[in-house]
Amino acid sequence: MKNYEIVIIGAGPAGSMAAQAAAAAGKKTALIERNEKPSMPVRCGEGIGRKGLATTLEPQKQWIKSGITRARMISPSGIKVEIGNVDQSWILDRQTMDFDLVKQAVKAGADFFPSTTIVSAQKKTNGLYHCIGQDKEFTANCLILADGVESRIARCFGWDTALKLSDIETCAFARVTSPLIDQECCSFYTGGQVAPGGYAWIFPRGGAQANVGLGVIGSKCKAGLPKELLTRFIELRFPNSEVSHLHCGGVPVGRWIRPLVKEGVMLAGDAARQVNAINGAGIAYSLYAGKLAGETAAKALNKGTINHKILLKYQKQWAKNFGKQQDRSFALKEFIMNVGDGFLDRIANSLARENPEKISYLRVFTRTFATKPTLLLKAFKLFK
Ligand SMILES: Cc1cc2nc3c(=O)[nH]c(=O)nc-3n(C[C@H](O)[C@H](O)[C@H](O)COP(=O)(O)OP(=O)(O)OC[C@H]3O[C@@H](n4cnc5c(N)ncnc54)[C@H](O)[C@@H]3O)c2cc1C
Repeated sequence: MKNYEIVIIGAGPAGSMAAQAAAAAGKKTALIERNEKPSMPVRCGEGIGRKGLATTLEPQKQWIKSGITRARMISPSGIKVEIGNVDQSWILDRQTMDFDLVKQAVKAGADFFPSTTIVSAQKKTNGLYHCIGQDKEFTANCLILADGVESRIARCFGWDTALKLSDIETCAFARVTSPLIDQECCSFYTGGQVAPGGYAWIFPRGGAQANVGLGVIGSKCKAGLPKELLTRFIELRFPNSEVSHLHCGGVPVGRWIRPLVKEGVMLAGDAARQVNAINGAGIAYSLYAGKLAGETAAKALNKGTINHKILLKYQKQWAKNFGKQQDRSFALKEFIMNVGDGFLDRIANSLARENPEKISYLRVFTRTFATKPTLLLKAFKLFK
């Protein structure tokens, strides 16, 4: 039995940031990870906006594979919209970044337990939380659950983390090497033939390589479909390319879980569904939420006693800084799910005639809403 003040389950971006913050605040902290190494394999397109990363961390050179300043959206019938007004974005090296974040947590004083799967957890009558692993047990005054999209341990404390089929993108993704990859530009393909209820992405990572993947909404998915569609997509766009690192994974695209805190247990990152439902981006949110959860837990814990009022500040601050933004993305996703390929083609057609330098992601959205008065009304309600 290993005794800690704060135990964090999962060493992805959320868990490592939580561990670093808790340990830096002087709390006896354990970071537990089922894999031998974090991010093995990387289940991510690795795209992030500079602003999103810099909100929580000082970006490090070794984490960045390539810098992107342009994007391209391709409508179901193949109409290309060039987006020239893009905030600086990066394609990360998640493996290096995730390793570094664990190292930083250890440097701050956290104990790291790799190859350790927690199978269940419960609160004992002495008020301590017991986490039961296959061959180790841990006690803690406070638990931070950052165990990713599966979010299994939360169920031990009464959270229903089962995802509705309409709230999960089932993805297949791979690393592709081909001279045909445009290394300057991220591309997004939409349409029922390419990725029903989702999109396909090409994120260039330098050296003739790109992360290529696609997501199919759970309600339109059947076994093997994402992999089948991805294979076809790659063969069509990058014939004779080298394909490696082919994996599948899920992205939660529902609303963030409420409450985020129950007694001395907190949820962070994908486990809390802190993901942008429109594009499936969760790295920046996970980093921010993990750090905030770790800091708040450390502040709330004094000589083994948790001040619940302080712990609840985690949810309040999340809701204020990103929760509302995420709620809007969710509502937008619900609209987009219900528009057909013809609608997406019409939007693309009208945008394709404009000056790419003036087109931003925001303009794409405003044009989408302006094209349909009923959507415009709903949008007003969302953004009021
Ligand atoms: C195909 C795909 C593409 C994506 N592309 C992007 C992108 O381009 N940009 C972006 O911003 N986001 C992207 N995301 C989302 C992003 O990867 C996640 O939002 C982010 O990794 C969440 O971080 P996390 O720390 O919450 O969870 P994770 O990174 O999933 O980490 C959770 C960790 O918990 C561990 N764990 C789970 N259960 C246990 C247990 N019982 N005991 C011990 N350890 C456990 C896991 O092994 C894992 O290491 C993508 C996701 C997928 C699937």
